[in-house]
Amino acid sequence: MPKERFYADGLHFECTGCGNCCKLAGGFVYVTDDEIKAMARYLKLSLTAFTDKYLDIHKSRYVLKSNGDACILLENDACTVYPVRPVQCQTFPFWSTNLKSKYRWRITQFECEGIGQGRLYTKTEIENIVKMQSATDAGPSLVERKSQESSGSNEQSDSGTD
Ligand code: SF4
Repeated sequence: MPKERFYADGLHFECTGCGNCCKLAGGFVYVTDDEIKAMARYLKLSLTAFTDKYLDIHKSRYVLKSNGDACILLENDACTVYPVRPVQCQTFPFWSTNLKSKYRWRITQFECEGIGQGRLYTKTEIENIVKMQSATDAGPSLVERKSQESSGSNEQSDSGTD
């Protein structure tokens, strides 16, 4: 019989807006094409301007730049693209890495004061959030996209406001 996950009875979480997860040293926020377009549009920037100002490349994928140890999009402890923030940010702290064990979840609690507070997320809700995050993990890498673009199969506008 498969072992029950430690969160079988759900987990309490409520974001306090402390901003700690936007300041995790050594972390990378991977972003998809759709997320890049949404953030550029929200900030009323062209894709080129947004890319130059806010994006770096890590392991052949776009990531948000950091400003010291904090995300470049964090200002006065608030996310400047909050309504269109990437899925990786939306799904924290319910990442598969943090849910590997009760121990990992407790370690994450040192970084996230919202863990253990607020409403109860059921096992099904938690697993749906993990699926949402995994879907963006599986996005094409920059290298794969470049080869699609050069073969003409991926037309991408340079405008973030179109
Ligand atoms: S660390 Fe947790 S409580 Fe703080 S902003 Fe991030 S998700 Fe919210």
